[in-house]
Amino acid sequence: MQLIDGKVVAEQVKQEIAAEVAQMVAQGRRAPHLAAILVGHDGGSETYVANKIKACAVCGFKSSLIRFEETVSEAELLAAIDGLNRDPEVDGFIVQLPLPKHIDEQKIVEAIDYRKDVDGFHPVNVGRACIGLPSFLSATPAGILELLRRYKIETAGKHVVIIGRSNIVGKPLANLLMRKDYPGNATVTVVHSYSTDIKQQCLSADIIVCALGRPHFLKEDMVKEGATVIDVGTTRVPSTLTKSGFKLTGDVDFDAVAPKCAYITPVPGGVGPMTIVSLMKNTLLAGAKAIY
Ligand code: NAP
Repeated sequence: MQLIDGKVVAEQVKQEIAAEVAQMVAQGRRAPHLAAILVGHDGGSETYVANKIKACAVCGFKSSLIRFEETVSEAELLAAIDGLNRDPEVDGFIVQLPLPKHIDEQKIVEAIDYRKDVDGFHPVNVGRACIGLPSFLSATPAGILELLRRYKIETAGKHVVIIGRSNIVGKPLANLLMRKDYPGNATVTVVHSYSTDIKQQCLSADIIVCALGRPHFLKEDMVKEGATVIDVGTTRVPSTLTKSGFKLTGDVDFDAVAPKCAYITPVPGGVGPMTIVSLMKNTLLAGAKAIY
């Protein structure tokens, strides 16, 4: 069994990005600039945004944080987005999700200029990715592709089972793994909460991606010998052993499943660090005007 170390790969990719930024700057171009909009004070969102800003510093990007109180109106948020869309000094920006209930998230996502949508959530980017055109790829699926690439894991002709069909993980990942490319050319099965044959599907899978948010859902008797298992799940489970009072737990019963696997990602330290790195890659592409 080989552990797929997302932390190590993420550090490598950030260093590669930093080298490219240093080159851009040496050529007299400005460093890419990522802006983030954060609404409210949710602990998880605060941490994610802080980590993104930290990663920008490592990559040599400029970053800006625009904060709003939980009570911000949709109109105010749309005005801020319009400002960032028009700002020639901002290459890409994100609006940290989730947003308060009185704000229509889809409206916010669609208000972002797709040429600055470094989260890859705008329908234009989703659609372009789906038909294989250059686009900003959704961060978590792109991070998973990068892990498969770095560990040289074969996907062509392989059966990939993805558990979960969300718009940010399951669906875009399924599309990417079907591309005529590497990683890609896989036979992809997507299962969800209405699927009745998840165990049988998983037992025939060469690669299983768990993205459902149910701690320890994937058990040892659902995995064939030599499979690759990618665990996207990150659920905060209460714990007396940590200072924060919770433990990030994956969707895979790791201790039981790992001995059967050729490759497996841990939680934490697997897919998570790669998600931020994908955002950094998209920002680099935005700064270099490499896609649009
Ligand atoms: P989501 O939007 O809640 O979607 C979950 C998916 O799992 C849905 O398609 C749902 O089916 C399916 N599902 C739920 N229970 C199931 C069950 N018992 N059997 C089969 N399928 C089931 O979740 P998400 O946003 O994709 O996130 C999934 C997990 O990944 C969460 O733990 C999240 O925190 C984590 N995540 C981690 C990262 C990272 O960077 N590491 C990034 C994104 C997400 P239905 O469609 O039928 O409801």
